Amino acid sequence: MFSPRAASAVVRAAARGWRGAPRPGGAAAAGQRRALSLHEYQSQAIMREAGVAVPRSIAVTSVEEAREAVATLTSDSASSDVVVKAQVLAGGRGLGSFTNGFKGGVHTCYSADSAVETASKMLGGTLVTKQTGARGRPCNTVMLAERVYLRREMYFAILYDRESQGPVIVASAVGGTSIEDIAAADPDAIVKVPVDLAVGLRDKDASRVASALGFDGDSATACAEQVRRLYDMFLAKDATLLEVNPMAETPTGEVVCLDAKISFDDNASFRQAAIFEQRDTSQEEPREVAADAAGLNYIGLDGNIACMVNGAGLAMATMDIIKLHGGEPANFLDVGGGATEEQVTAAFRILNEDAAVRAILVNIFGGIMRCDVIAQGIINAAQTLDLRVPVIVRLQGNKVEEAKALIAKTGTCTTALD
Ligand code: ADP
Ligand code: MG
Repeated sequence: MFSPRAASAVVRAAARGWRGAPRPGGAAAAGQRRALSLHEYQSQAIMREAGVAVPRSIAVTSVEEAREAVATLTSDSASSDVVVKAQVLAGGRGLGSFTNGFKGGVHTCYSADSAVETASKMLGGTLVTKQTGARGRPCNTVMLAERVYLRREMYFAILYDRESQGPVIVASAVGGTSIEDIAAADPDAIVKVPVDLAVGLRDKDASRVASALGFDGDSATACAEQVRRLYDMFLAKDATLLEVNPMAETPTGEVVCLDAKISFDDNASFRQAAIFEQRDTSQEEPREVAADAAGLNYIGLDGNIACMVNGAGLAMATMDIIKLHGGEPANFLDVGGGATEEQVTAAFRILNEDAAVRAILVNIFGGIMRCDVIAQGIINAAQTLDLRVPVIVRLQGNKVEEAKALIAKTGTCTTALD
């Protein structure tokens, strides 16, 4: 195993260059991609196609488009009210703020001019919400929606539940605000209806959801039909999460979904090509986008010691050992068993470009992975990238002698740790 002496050397190397400035945001803000999330306007289109009631809306990326969209939306409507909504992949937009000082990512506007002006303030801005971290997310698209006059707001979600080992529908007659707050203030207000995948959604399940949402009579029947369409869509599109907060009731008792968040199972990308093509990488952590493109398993963390390891188990153990010696890992990176020289170089580029990184620790146990391939990748990286931090390498196993010979030949390595 990796010796304590080597681990302390890494921690010290990192500490020497450490300027004490923590990275803004952090792992929670890093937008780790385990399930694809789509923008509200994209999710809404999928819901509309599935027969779910959603407001009329148009997504725009420029002020000119916004002007046309407002004209289209209000031309055959009795009202000139338009809701202007920033399209960033984060919840809590209504209460968010743009870094340019403009407040709120969701505005109800009472004239065409004010809707266009609001869209112009959002486009090109960066919205910070309680879910984005301090860095915020870029707002490149704005959705203009018909304003729905609503009687009340509800909460509706479908997700997978470990306990019942299947989908569970979560419904509450109280909605609009954060579900965590509702759960804390009044847990009984939230009803969970598990669905047996083998049986499907039974009429009585859909009715139970409608009643939990506060409907009765004909309105309950219409609501149960909307619940069924949402559930069918959830399954057909390989969704892992569908959250509608708020779902609203109109003065005539109809259900409309006012907000839409859907996440999709990455494992189903092969059969949901049309959905996965809509991925917006501008909303994701750039280091993770680059790692994904290079086929690397990478997750950004808050620390300053970057690690490049083969195998998830050894990667976890390496992060543990860094922590044990008082350091903080900057990432999880498993290059896998079949990494190529190009992938190793790509990994180094990502680690080297991370401003928070003060040292790179390579910990490879060559089994299927050949140490000489890793060594060549490191040498390529050292020759082509402007490596600004010390690299501490531990290679063991398959082709280690060849690897050491390669590194020795370059003459750039000063110390060999074992
Ligand atoms: P977020 O959850 O990101 O803050 P929402 O889409 O839930 O954004 O919008 C915030 C609030 O704005 C909603 O709770 C709802 O009250 C109101 N709202 C959103 N869309 C509409 C709409 N089309 N018509 C009327 N009110 C809306
Ligand atoms: Mg919402």
